[in-house]
Amino acid sequence: MSPGHHGGCLCGLDPSVTYEGPRATIATLGGSPTWGLGDRFHELAAAQGHARLGVHRPRTPYGLGPQVEHYRTPSGRMFLRIPTYGQVLGEDPLLHASEWKTFWILWQAGVRILLVGGTSGSCDWRRSAGDEDAVRPGDLVLPCSYLPRDTMPTGLPGTELEFCLPRQVAIMDDPFCPALAGAIHEEARRVPGFRFRRIHGPEARAVLNRWLAGNGFESLATCRELELYGRLTGMPVITGDCVSPVLARVCGMHLGYYHVVANWGTGLEPDDPTITLDRLYVETLPRVAAALELALLDRLDEPAACRCRALLRPRPTEYARALSPPP
Ligand SMILES: [Zn+2]
Repeated sequence: MSPGHHGGCLCGLDPSVTYEGPRATIATLGGSPTWGLGDRFHELAAAQGHARLGVHRPRTPYGLGPQVEHYRTPSGRMFLRIPTYGQVLGEDPLLHASEWKTFWILWQAGVRILLVGGTSGSCDWRRSAGDEDAVRPGDLVLPCSYLPRDTMPTGLPGTELEFCLPRQVAIMDDPFCPALAGAIHEEARRVPGFRFRRIHGPEARAVLNRWLAGNGFESLATCRELELYGRLTGMPVITGDCVSPVLARVCGMHLGYYHVVANWGTGLEPDDPTITLDRLYVETLPRVAAALELALLDRLDEPAACRCRALLRPRPTEYARALSPPP
């Protein structure tokens, strides 16, 4: 470890670290839909025939990584699970480079399909009882695009993906793999004993207001802004956690994102969302979300009918030469 070696990076970057964790082509980052299970996801998985083969804590160039669980599905496939977006209890995810650590692990492990779930509010402007098409609490949403709330990580410092824009550009059409969205939609209709009020596929043109690792929910003003944006563009906005779609694309992954709407955005309705939210998180949602994820992890192959890989586009060699050479 040589802190400060890499341009004075605060995280004490060590590019010489090699990956020693398990490998698989598919992974899930869990997230708030399975939060209510606490650390018992593996018990539910076992009840459905999935064996947890090991629990690892790999080192990364940015410090000790999050927990990586290695599973074998009933049909003999392997998958990885990193709990809750790779966040570690008591650590500020931004300060501790949580997203870099998580993606470095997934990239090194050979992951090509990444499942991520989120929950939170709908800022749909259509909120009267008769608005059947609206994105409402209880719905499952597969968004078509996103708005970034913050400056997202878009590369992996200390690797060939640190700043690759001069060599290849991530075009952000279809940030959430449409082929995976189709598979999630299909599987969500089959979850035993549960029916979502409505499933909004990418054709519903819902937009995710992407945010990760904040200590609060969106403010009333933000929700009003998003509501108005939706009304003006005809694209309803949901707010929720998701990892950086750019980073997933740069790392060559198909990002499958599903969102369960738990409440209306702050201030859009008079009810306090937190009461029903905790009940939903702990009682109903985790088993449904875990069943959905496990079914997908047991059957998904790398999609061919999408543009995720093609949208990471090589650029003319002149562009890289137009920058100062590395020292
Ligand atoms: Zn794809």
